[in-house]
Amino acid sequence: MSPSFIESNTTGSDPRAQKGSTNISTIQSLDIEQFAPGVFEKRWLNISTSALGPVNVPVFAYRGSAPGPTVGIIGAIHGNEVNGIPVIQQVFARLEEKIRSEFASETIAGTLIGIPVLNVPGFLDSVRSFDGHDLNRLMPGKSNGAAPQQYAYRVFQEIVMKLDYVFDLHTASAGRQNSLYVRADMNDDNIKKLATDLSPQIIVHNSSPGGSLRGCAQQNGIKALTVEIGNPSTFQHNLITRTVNGICNALTFQLGYPPLSNQYAIQMQQQSPVICCRSYWLFSQAAGILQVYKKLAEPVTRGEVIAEIHSVFGELLQRIFAPDDHDTVVVGLESNPVAKVGNRTVHLGVIGNGFLDGVNDGHL
Ligand SMILES: [Zn+2]
Repeated sequence: MSPSFIESNTTGSDPRAQKGSTNISTIQSLDIEQFAPGVFEKRWLNISTSALGPVNVPVFAYRGSAPGPTVGIIGAIHGNEVNGIPVIQQVFARLEEKIRSEFASETIAGTLIGIPVLNVPGFLDSVRSFDGHDLNRLMPGKSNGAAPQQYAYRVFQEIVMKLDYVFDLHTASAGRQNSLYVRADMNDDNIKKLATDLSPQIIVHNSSPGGSLRGCAQQNGIKALTVEIGNPSTFQHNLITRTVNGICNALTFQLGYPPLSNQYAIQMQQQSPVICCRSYWLFSQAAGILQVYKKLAEPVTRGEVIAEIHSVFGELLQRIFAPDDHDTVVVGLESNPVAKVGNRTVHLGVIGNGFLDGVNDGHL
């Protein structure tokens, strides 16, 4: 049998030799009953069509022998947010190793679905958007709409609506950096427990923005949380491993899966995240060269200088202070030093657990 990978060598390799994924069949719908219990499955799910043929998303699936909830882990709804891809691969690898080594499939109640890349054209172009639009503001889409709306519609109907729980994996957008943090409705007990077991650096309570996958899922009774894993267009292995451990712990402690993390990883994950009741960005008032003096996930002292903007000649134009009436932590920051008036500079989480309803997501 020919290998499904290409081994490069100094004489070069023939790109036509690529066989990867060609033996995986394509499905039109994510009906769980089509997956044989106890079998690790891979499929292409057809979402759309281009002039040159079908547009398919990759699907991992494992259906336990007992009935139970369907849990989805979704990556790259923003095409350049790739840290979620190895997270999903590794969660499935751990589950497969556990099932093969110790447990019969009967020990899993329900189905685990992994979609490592949701936004196919954005991923192929290494960009956040889909055809210039944000897929994560178009949910639940429109069956009779423009291309991104139809794509969102198929995604929502064929994937999201088949789930009972969803972990939506993201990163910062281009030019910005994120800590490992979860956005979740902390007034929902189920979601709060999942977020806590995931044990990120920070948890930010908020409602989700209109048209987002998380918000539309929640409106349909699906338990959803957003996991922000660092930075775009790169793999950050520390954050990836921590997220894998966190999702595995949530699966074990809240959804009855066998332990998928070793004891050391479970204990490491029990470092308590900083809990924030909301978050917001500080925007620049000046244009020039931005320097941010705080690090990701670092606590902020009230009233301290957290960033400055200088002119290209080095003159101080704006000093950006931390708020002096509440405690904050750095959730994310702008890493592009070229600042315009009104640019985002630092994303602060407000430390506290007074969780109000209808809190915006800090991006508005
Ligand atoms: Zn994103």
